[in-house]
Amino acid sequence: MDLLKERIRRDGTIKKGNVLKVDSFLNHQMDIGLMNEIGKEFKRRFEGKNITKILTIEASGIGIACIVAQYFNVPVVFAKKTQSINIDGEVYSTKIESFTHKKVYDVIVSKRFLSEEDHVLIIDDFLANGCALLGLLDILNSAGATVEGIGIVIEKGFQDGGERIRQMGIQLESLAIVESMDDEKGTIVFRGE
Ligand code: 5GP
Repeated sequence: MDLLKERIRRDGTIKKGNVLKVDSFLNHQMDIGLMNEIGKEFKRRFEGKNITKILTIEASGIGIACIVAQYFNVPVVFAKKTQSINIDGEVYSTKIESFTHKKVYDVIVSKRFLSEEDHVLIIDDFLANGCALLGLLDILNSAGATVEGIGIVIEKGFQDGGERIRQMGIQLESLAIVESMDDEKGTIVFRGE
């Protein structure tokens, strides 16, 4: 998606530790025009799939998922991060290690909002090592829901999450795949360039 790649090059900043900051247009301040284009592109890539729900994880996935959901006309469910888990049987839960915060979170979704009847599209802003996605897949597995695909805005192709997910045979669509980035020079190379 050229529009997105141009925007990442123009407004993204590269931090030490392989972190790409896109908070001026994607996950803090949000450019809704761009988000709408992202929504349309995911709709095109998952055309023909029977999707009943979109699943994401708080916090930064929520805004993107809501815009994308308008193109699919389905509800958004977001997995909640919690530090003190009291599993009362009412929630699906899993553990996710945060790439950016280096912390392990318990993550929960109420059993009321996911079931074996659901056909789910997972949406998130970034894919790095894949921990967030593996956690969401674990929750969907517990719910007995069908995974129809995964839509990621920015995949960091030099980390192994994408490969792990593709090996599982899941349709993974990343709108921009960063092949390499250099925090000193400020340069980014996208896959396919
Ligand atoms: P993973 O679990 O795949 O290692 O990391 C995915 C999660 O970490 C995403 O939900 C995203 O919030 C965060 N993340 C990973 N890499 C980056 C990055 O380079 N920049 C930003 N802003 N967030 C990232």
